[in-house]
Amino acid sequence: MNMNTILEEIMIKRSQQKKRTSPLNYKERLFVLTKSMLTYYEGRAEKKYRKGSVDISKIKCVEVVKNDGIAIPCQNKYPFQVVYDNSTLYVFAPTVYSRDQWVRNLKEEIKNNSNIMVKYHPKFWTDGIYQCCRQTEKLAPGCEKYSLFENGMETLPGAMPDKNKFSRRPPPPIPPEEEEEEEEEIVVAMYDFQPTEPHDLRLERGQEYTVIEKNDIHWWKARDKYGSKGYIPSNYVTGKKSNSLDQHEWYCKNMNRSKAEQLLRNEDKEGGFMVRDSSQPGLYTVSLYAKFGGEGSSGIRHYHIKETMTSHKQYYLAEKHLFDAIPELIEYHKHNAAGLVTRLRYPVTPKVKPSPTTAGFSYDKWEINPAELTFMRELGSGLFGVVRLGKWRAQYKVAIKAIREGAMYEEDFIEEAKVMMKLTHPKLVQLYGVCTQQRPIYIVTEFMEHGCLLNYLRQRRGHFTKDSLLTMCQDVCEGMEYLESNSFIHRDLAARNCLVNESGVVKVSDFGMTRYVLDDQYTSSSGAKFPVKWCPPEVFNYSRFSSKSDVWSFGVLIWEVFTEGKMPFESNSNYEVVTMISQGHRLFRPKLASKNVYDVMMKCWQEKPEGRPTFHDLLQMIDAIAEDTS
Ligand code: ADP
Repeated sequence: MNMNTILEEIMIKRSQQKKRTSPLNYKERLFVLTKSMLTYYEGRAEKKYRKGSVDISKIKCVEVVKNDGIAIPCQNKYPFQVVYDNSTLYVFAPTVYSRDQWVRNLKEEIKNNSNIMVKYHPKFWTDGIYQCCRQTEKLAPGCEKYSLFENGMETLPGAMPDKNKFSRRPPPPIPPEEEEEEEEEIVVAMYDFQPTEPHDLRLERGQEYTVIEKNDIHWWKARDKYGSKGYIPSNYVTGKKSNSLDQHEWYCKNMNRSKAEQLLRNEDKEGGFMVRDSSQPGLYTVSLYAKFGGEGSSGIRHYHIKETMTSHKQYYLAEKHLFDAIPELIEYHKHNAAGLVTRLRYPVTPKVKPSPTTAGFSYDKWEINPAELTFMRELGSGLFGVVRLGKWRAQYKVAIKAIREGAMYEEDFIEEAKVMMKLTHPKLVQLYGVCTQQRPIYIVTEFMEHGCLLNYLRQRRGHFTKDSLLTMCQDVCEGMEYLESNSFIHRDLAARNCLVNESGVVKVSDFGMTRYVLDDQYTSSSGAKFPVKWCPPEVFNYSRFSSKSDVWSFGVLIWEVFTEGKMPFESNSNYEVVTMISQGHRLFRPKLASKNVYDVMMKCWQEKPEGRPTFHDLLQMIDAIAEDTS
């Protein structure tokens, strides 16, 4: 689950029926709500393909759809609508509860939008007509007053007063306790979490917790089963009702066949098993170790979890014992071999499942006590000073940047650091905190074993597959899409400002940091150190930075990746590059880049910023290329 996910659930989406003659259809989609986007995917949380998305800022109305008992032609019976631009998305939730949650959360997210509708259509648009007012124009003005704050839902039969009857009266006040009750949400920990501050709460993988407060998107207040309360990182838990398998100890994400076999052999336990993603997208495999089973010595079997083709999907393994969900199926086969070589006795998983980074080490903590840092070897040095490997509280590996005197607008940076700490994404190098009470000040970030991407590429030239190069670009694009969706401009995206961790994952670093550089030679577009070769015309001419100028730089970064770390425009001076770019020249196609990959670069290098794709678009293009070649 993405760290910023507010809600995530498989629901049914009605086709938008853009043409009057096209038939209506209903498809299962995984809906994901974040602060900035409502996105829907085909597949599951673990393997999903983006099908569409709606900008939260464009949403004008979210409300339950009234259907007066008319049969709903799909298995989910609780519709709601999301109106945006000139379209309406109709979504069908499986339960009243889930619909209420979605409507409530969406309303919460759009409440500051300036485009909220005054009137809306309480019933469906079907076959060219609104069922409520019989208007035949899709953009016809609404026919009933819309209120964001009124719980105008006819959801729980009998629970709500008939709106028409009581229309002159204000809605009855909801007793506060009840509201509290309703807001409570049960989550399951996907990772262990060791608290570092007294106000945090320990998480144990697989245990349930009740969320009591979500004032900060990264740190929720929760209660454990013993009644202890405290803050937990929101990205360490998943909704109990969500379909995520992450909460189960037997599920191993990113585990391929050979790694699974190795792990099962090492454990050497009869009935050792795990569930992993199958090589076929969206499907799962059970890998099972039978010491005494079958063919003589020990053997490992891999069973696909099969799915029925019926509209109500069910799962089964060897014989046709059908289950509504994978956890139920696993539970059954823990007790019954039922066609398997042995029963699933013993879940086997890697000893340390890497936990995601958190937004800072604790809730509301961005100042780090320097006495709690130990310094180890030097990792490198950059514009701001020397970077060292270190440990925080003798336990957590971190990178510590000591800011050289006179290198940075420190006051401004310290202010901004609070904002930057809240940027949390698996493809961004996490800022954990700062030490500002002494000089030099320290910036403490996630440690990345393989250092900067540029050197990583250069040192391993000739050893990368094209797929692995594309994956690096995908990583960066994901991080940048996140920055874009948070309206955060990087301003200096390049391979030298990305870092690589021990698993080879590339993450974007140093975002926004050039704003605090005191060196004119670096910040002025005519300065000798200004990264002209990564800049679009509007930046080197007018210093006009935007997410679209980041897109240009991303194009150059793809080029750096596919040349395995060459210097762009190697034999030209900055001055010459400005002239060449202004005349329409572009970097050549690297040998390792396919035509499709080069097309992506060229799209990033459109002269006009509005002609360039967004990172959101780019990610889809890169995903499509990766799909094609795999
Ligand atoms: P500056 O921002 O001062 O220019 P950089 O961020 O470029 O400094 O860091 C300088 C070098 O230090 C990098 O090239 C890299 O080798 C190393 N380094 C920086 N941050 C990390 C980190 N988080 N993990 C590992 N190595 C790092």
